[in-house]
This record gives sequence, C-alpha cells and structure tokens, in this order.
Amino acid sequence: MSYSEKTRSAYQSVLQGLQDAGLFKQERFIHSPQAADIEVEFPSGASVRKVINMCANNYLGLSSHPDVVKAAHEGMDARGYGMSSVRFICGTQDIHRTLERKVTEFLGTEDTILFPSCMDANAGVFEAILTKDDVMISDRLVHASLIDGIRLCSAMQDTYKHADMAHLEQKLEMHQDRRFRLVITDGVFSMDGDTAPLDKMVSLAEKYDAMILIDDSHASGFIGKTGRGTHEKYGVVGKMDVITTTFGKALGGATGGCVSGRRELVEMCRQKARPYLFSNSIAPVVVQGVLKVFDILMASTERRDKLEKNAAYWRKGLQEAGFVLKEGDTPIVPVMLFNAKLAGDFSRALYDEGIYAVGFFFPVVHKSQSRIRTQISAGHEMHHLDKALAAFIKVGKKFEILGKAKQEIIERFGM
Ligand SMILES: *Cc1c(COP(=O)(O)O)cnc(C)c1O
Repeated sequence: MSYSEKTRSAYQSVLQGLQDAGLFKQERFIHSPQAADIEVEFPSGASVRKVINMCANNYLGLSSHPDVVKAAHEGMDARGYGMSSVRFICGTQDIHRTLERKVTEFLGTEDTILFPSCMDANAGVFEAILTKDDVMISDRLVHASLIDGIRLCSAMQDTYKHADMAHLEQKLEMHQDRRFRLVITDGVFSMDGDTAPLDKMVSLAEKYDAMILIDDSHASGFIGKTGRGTHEKYGVVGKMDVITTTFGKALGGATGGCVSGRRELVEMCRQKARPYLFSNSIAPVVVQGVLKVFDILMASTERRDKLEKNAAYWRKGLQEAGFVLKEGDTPIVPVMLFNAKLAGDFSRALYDEGIYAVGFFFPVVHKSQSRIRTQISAGHEMHHLDKALAAFIKVGKKFEILGKAKQEIIERFGM
C-alpha cells in the first residue's frame, strides 16, 4: 500500500535516467563454469554462445581447477554443506583454523581471521582496532569496501593524493598528536592495475610511527616472485601490520576473505569485528577448496609465472595496436575510452566478435575515465590472447580510435 504509483514512478524515472545516460548495467548469464572459454546468454533470452572471457578475476585459472573442485567435493562429504552459525557460537570447524594458519604462513604475517568476504573484512577491521583518538589516512583511490569500512569507524579520517608519498608524509606529520596513525591503501589498485609503493610507505611509517593496512585482493596469489602479494614485490614481507584480502579472486574465486597481520590486531577483530560476530562462517566446502589452492601455490610458481608472461604479451599487443592504456605491470590492463557510452558500445561490439570484456564507467570510475578493463589469466592460452587481440583491433578500427591520443578520442565522443 505504501509503495504507491507515485513512489514506483519516481524509481522508474531514476532507472530510466541511468538507461538514457548509458550507465545502466546489464548482467550477462554464463551457462558454464568460470574459465577462459565460457558460454554466455546475452542479452537475456538470446541464444547461448561461446566467448573468451577477458574480464574475470580468475587470475590463476583456479576457479574451476579439477583438483580444487575435487577437494571441495571431498570437503563437503567430510564436513557437510553449511554451518548454520557464526564463528563464535558454533560455526568454527578445525578446518577454519587450519586455513587461518595456512594464510598466515603464505602471507608471512603473525595471525589471520577469516571473514565471509573481503568486503566484510574491510567493513569490520577499522572499528575493531581503532578509536576516536586515532587517525586513518587513506589513498584517495582505495576500493569502495575500504571507504565503507572507514565510514563505519569512529577514528578521524584523512586522505592523501593517489600514491603521492610527499603528500602522505605531510599528513603523517600533521597527525603526530593522535594516539595511532593507520595508513590505508590497496596493494594493487583494481581499476588502474598500478601498485602502492610499499617500500617507501614502510620507511614513512617507521619515521612517523604509523601502522600500514593494505588490501591485497588483486595481488594475493600472484604478485611478487612467489605470489605472496604486493608486500613481496616491494621486499617488505613481515612489515605490513594488516593485510586484508579475498578468496574470491585468484585464490579459487569462490567466496571469503580475511584480515591477516599483527597477532593483537587479529585478536581484536575476533573480539569486536561485527561482520565476524554477526555473519555466517565460510562454508566447509569453500574452506577445503581454498586449502587446496594454497597447496597448489606453495608447491610451484608455474601459474603466476605463466600469468606474468601472458599479461606482458597482452599489454604489448594492445600497445602496438595503438590503444591508450593505463601503465602498469599487473594482469589488469585497462583500455581507456574516456566516454561511458563508447565503453558500452565497444564492449557490445567485442561480444559480437566472441570476446567478453565489460565496460567500466560511473559509479565504478569517474565518467571521464570510462574504459574496458581487461584482466589476464593463467588460464589463457596464446590462441585466446591472439584471438582477443584480433577482435580488439577490429573493433578499435570500427570506432576509429587506434593510434588516437586521449584528447582526440574525447573530442570525437565527448566525455
Ligand atoms: C574484490 C575486492 C574486494 C571485495 O572482495 P569480496 O571478498 O568479494 O568481498 C575488496 N577489496 C578489493 C580491493 C577488491 O578488489
């Protein structure tokens, strides 16, 4: 009754506004397991077709790996399907603790606590470890889940310009009167694929008596020589006070996340973090799958090595074809289009060529930063990359953007 025609039409006009602006997001239905080759229904009701996936977070190609699937099956047989409880009531199995120890060993930290997701880890960690006497100083481009976690915390909030160490230093100096200073950053930034300069950040943290928290969701499993993450790349393993990360990307891609770091900080989360206290434990089937993922990664670096080669090949191919890219050396390779409608049209034209790569625009990035974000996987073979490259070039020619600089593209299509 309260949902009147007036209320309904108000929402309808907002949604229509999104459609008109080319900002309406439409799901594509995948009919197969997650992999380099997938079967997709798009638009809804259209016949299913086989396409190459160029935008999954399946960096290591483990989402449907037979050994992981088998371990998950066995885990479900041994420990059941669901826990029907949060961790501290009756939702902790021995395997939850085994996984926490395994993550601790892999990341080179002191202890780990699992969360239902990394979004939840980020929502819970700040208020659990900080008070109003402290300050959080975050990079201006941190992930939305960190922004939400920061909002939920009573400590003072401040930011520094993206990856700008001089600006961070200014802020650290300015906040010396606070009890604790916590510097917050993504390890790998998910939209641009660049990395936080953690070696420099550690020096600053030591100089100005600050803690560091990184969210390594787009790094755990493959960044650094043995895939431990961004802290390994910058030679600062053991110096991160808190690492949050997800099992929903490279590490099997199912669900779950964690807070890993200093023993007391992890214990504070166990006592106080609300998503830990009030949301269900990770299902046993997922825990067993993730344990297998770590076995695979700790036995060999073959997958992250292949991923590195694939990503370099892909980036070079796009660059030589004349696309505007964001610079970097991670498997996240954004093809810049600067216009939301163009990003959507480009994505649909790619789909017609058998390539699945979605457009990113507001609110995920600023509208003048609209793009196709491509993500490379160890599950890609050369033939996938070559076919995808040929399709990108064909579509790039169709829209006449190859070899065009940012300014020329903006003049043609607007922002
Ligand atoms: C994906 C992502 C998350 C969310 O992870 P979930 O486990 O899916 O909730 C958090 N932080 C960053 C940086 C991410 O990229």
